[in-house]
Amino acid sequence: MSKRTQGEYQTLPLLPLRDVVIFPGMMMPFVVGRARSVAALERAMESGKRLFLAAQRDAEIDDPEATEVYGVGTIAMIVQSLKQPNGNIRVLVEGVQRAQAIEFTEEDTFHEVVVKPLVSADAAPEVHTKTKALTRLFEKYVKLAANLPHEAMLAAVKKDDPGRLADTIAAHLDVDLPGKQDLLEIVDIENRLDKLVEAVTFEIEKLRVDKKIQGQVKKQMEQAQKEYYLNEKMKAIQRELGSKDGKGSEVDQLRVKIAKSGMPTDVMEKAEQELERLETMPPMSAEATVSRNYVDWLVSVPWFRRTRENNNLSLAADILDEDHYGLEKIKERIVEFLAVRQLVDQMKGSILCFVGAPGVGKSSLGRSIARATGREFVRLSVGGVRDEAEVRGHRRTYIGAFPGQIMQRMKAAGVINPVFLLDEVDKMSMDFRGDPSSALMEVLDPEQNNQFVDHYLDAEYDLSHVMFIATANVLHTIPAPLQDRMEIIRLSGYTETEKMQIARRHLISKQIAYHGLRENQLEITDNALGRIIGEYTREAGVRALERMVARVARKGARNLVDQYSAEITKAVEAIAAAEEEERALATLTDEANAQESADAEAAEKVDPALDKLKADDLADDGDEEDTFEDDDFSSDFDIENIENFNLDDIDMSGFDNDEEEELEAVIEARNPMERVMPKRTALADAIPEDANLVVNADKLEEYLGVPRFKKRQKEEASEVGLVAGLAWTERGGEILATEATLMPGKGKLALTGQLGDVMQESGQAALSYVRSRASTFDVEKDFHQNYDIHLHVPEGAIPKDGPSAGITLATAIVSALTGVPVSHDVAMTGEITLRGKVLPIGGLKEKVLAAHRAGLTQVIMPAENEKDLQDVPGEVLQDLTIHFVDTMDEVLRLALVSPLAPASDDEEGELPPGGQQPDGSVQQPPLTH
Ligand code: ADP
Repeated sequence: MSKRTQGEYQTLPLLPLRDVVIFPGMMMPFVVGRARSVAALERAMESGKRLFLAAQRDAEIDDPEATEVYGVGTIAMIVQSLKQPNGNIRVLVEGVQRAQAIEFTEEDTFHEVVVKPLVSADAAPEVHTKTKALTRLFEKYVKLAANLPHEAMLAAVKKDDPGRLADTIAAHLDVDLPGKQDLLEIVDIENRLDKLVEAVTFEIEKLRVDKKIQGQVKKQMEQAQKEYYLNEKMKAIQRELGSKDGKGSEVDQLRVKIAKSGMPTDVMEKAEQELERLETMPPMSAEATVSRNYVDWLVSVPWFRRTRENNNLSLAADILDEDHYGLEKIKERIVEFLAVRQLVDQMKGSILCFVGAPGVGKSSLGRSIARATGREFVRLSVGGVRDEAEVRGHRRTYIGAFPGQIMQRMKAAGVINPVFLLDEVDKMSMDFRGDPSSALMEVLDPEQNNQFVDHYLDAEYDLSHVMFIATANVLHTIPAPLQDRMEIIRLSGYTETEKMQIARRHLISKQIAYHGLRENQLEITDNALGRIIGEYTREAGVRALERMVARVARKGARNLVDQYSAEITKAVEAIAAAEEEERALATLTDEANAQESADAEAAEKVDPALDKLKADDLADDGDEEDTFEDDDFSSDFDIENIENFNLDDIDMSGFDNDEEEELEAVIEARNPMERVMPKRTALADAIPEDANLVVNADKLEEYLGVPRFKKRQKEEASEVGLVAGLAWTERGGEILATEATLMPGKGKLALTGQLGDVMQESGQAALSYVRSRASTFDVEKDFHQNYDIHLHVPEGAIPKDGPSAGITLATAIVSALTGVPVSHDVAMTGEITLRGKVLPIGGLKEKVLAAHRAGLTQVIMPAENEKDLQDVPGEVLQDLTIHFVDTMDEVLRLALVSPLAPASDDEEGELPPGGQQPDGSVQQPPLTH
């Protein structure tokens, strides 16, 4: 091989390189292993130690062809070579000059190339400035790049030769192989410098971004580490504190409670998450309190616990009978309802709603249903609830937030299947804070209430096992969609006889016991009870009656205590003496016990023979027991303990065949229907058992003061313009003594007594009717121009409304106009049309009861209401004459004490203005009032 000078063609062995480009001036160690490369290297070693290094286009190829290596490479000098035992050779080469391969020749064992060294033209004047710029950039680069040997690099750029400098920098840049090859192939120095400035700038930018990201990551990691460390430290501190004051275990306790609560998994996850948060908070912080309260609530509402329900309908019916007198139809409907509930899971209208006046037993029926079905009982008065949040709770973001009333009651119930009484659903109102009835609707909807969400608990709760019962005084203020969900049961009030029975069977004994007396110690005679009902109360229900009975019992108790004060004083002394004695005895017994145990200890030590004696004794006892059994006198009862008999202690498992008995006992025990009587004191026993205080009718005023109501509300005598109307109010049926008066005037109609719009319009209609019939009644034709009419319905402070006073108002006007009195025996109710027809009305039973209570004997009512009469007790109907009417003419005939005089001849046939035309149409007169 001939040696050639710079710039001349040279023939050199080719050594293809994988993944690396060697620049002139660069020292590079590598290992040569491929057979062809080893051969090429060996040839080079033999001939001048020079070879041509060119990068492979594809590093994967083991034995590249001429076309598979780049044409431009570097002529290099072998500085050192070392053969390794495995046949590989480690070499250190130094790049000498870039060169272009011109021709490849295939030798036996390696490739040989003819190369032409590539020499740059003389440096242009700009090269100097460009070199400086590049040097500065590179220095920046070296500073940013962490993994470059700074000193060496900076020394490298001190080179004077711009070409060398460029190559050194190119060699150290972190660019990929094609990039480096590109740099190698640029022969012109100026171009190479330009390219490098571009490349270094790019690399610097890359490093900057890298650094920035790295900085951020580092910061985040440091923050996370810091938090972790602090949390761990806090936990350790809390553990330390907790182990002293027992607080640390609070979280553990909550954890156990969560596990035991039986809550659904998603709720449990929520609770546990909260608990984890709680753990990281300082225990005394406000935040921790909020968090703890929340978890506390989650664990304390019932999630799965339920009471066993009674499905025995006859037992349920018995219980309802036991708790309430009368109400036969209602109890029957309740039992039917319970039956259907057993058969159907989620029936529409599956909520009972009791509607009726106060004190008719709505709530107590609810309580009784709970007992009859073996459920717990909770009650929520929704009357006056304006805010949706009261039902559903506030979100936890509010300070002092709490769950809504529904969930609070569920917690109180402690089970998922209580009877839930919603009292006074008709009194709920809505304002800007949302509509509570819509929340209630969700609660009551069987299709939605298995996913009830309280805002505070923020978790779905299943209310579908709850038996909801609603109560209301009136129906019309309950939103229609809510009514739609409920089965309405009306309780219409009691007759006097029923009230007597209720008092006798329930109220009196209850109140006497409440006041610490024995049943026989206070006696209320029938006459007295009759007076209480008639003169001290006026109501559809029995609430006031119960209050009066309580008042009698209270006074009675006081009288008895006064009467037996000597005995009571004696008892007080006896008790004090007994206590003293007991104390003394206790001291003595203590001493004796101490002595005895000391003796026993001593005896045991002294005489082991005693043990033998004891053992024999026991054996004898055993024999005796055997003989008892032989006599077939075995018993499961522990005779000694029978006094401490407690329902909870009974093992019911033995009562397989007697389920009913078992249930009865459980129900009795669980829900003792207001039988939680106050405990009698020892002093109560000082009043002799046979003491007997009789409260008769005469003594009543001494107990209750003067009567509040006149016994009979019936008017003393029949009067002109005074009619007993029948009304139905929230308090039940009422008598409305309606008055009409005429005064000279201009036809004005005044209606007073807090009458609602409907009633006002009824008054107008009544007047129009009377005017249209003026001729038939023989009243002054122009009465409406000469008189003012004043209609007044007393008890003016109580608002009244409804159309059913129509015939009452018309009768009063006619009576006032004609001067014919209205019979004081007659009560009436019915809506009136302009043509004098009488239309049906509601609340008939209550109205009839009210008429009966007031002592009236005749009731006029719309014929269409006849069917409703079946609800009225027979004993009431016995005392009444009921007239069914279709027209106002009939009403007047029945109500006025004497028939109306026929119209005078000259007016006959002449219609008053606005009267009925022969064809039946009504001509509207211009209203003058
Ligand atoms: P409401 O809820 O309708 O206002 P309550 O249920 O509070 O009335 O009843 C008032 C009182 O009257 C309660 O002590 C209740 O036990 C008693 N009571 C009502 N109706 C009857 C009845 N039919 N038999 C026995 N007690 C009754």
